[in-house]
Amino acid sequence: MTDDAPISCPYCDQRFAREQWQALHLGLDHSDVLSEKEREAVAVAREEEVADLKTFRLKALAALVFLYFGFLFAYSLFA
Ligand SMILES: [Zn+2]
Repeated sequence: MTDDAPISCPYCDQRFAREQWQALHLGLDHSDVLSEKEREAVAVAREEEVADLKTFRLKALAALVFLYFGFLFAYSLFA
């Protein structure tokens, strides 16, 4: 488990597999004790998360559209 999560939080015992997750944790749990550099890392991580979320939404929409037309096509063939 320790090998899978090489990044640790400097303020508590939590460990993370990605720096982005550590930065998000810092912003959530230690926002009152962060240095300027750590605050910047938190802001960057939040922007990345928003970007990841937009990508996920697009993929989910594409999957739904694909599924819809897949069923429509199957219906036109077999009904
Ligand atoms: Zn922590």
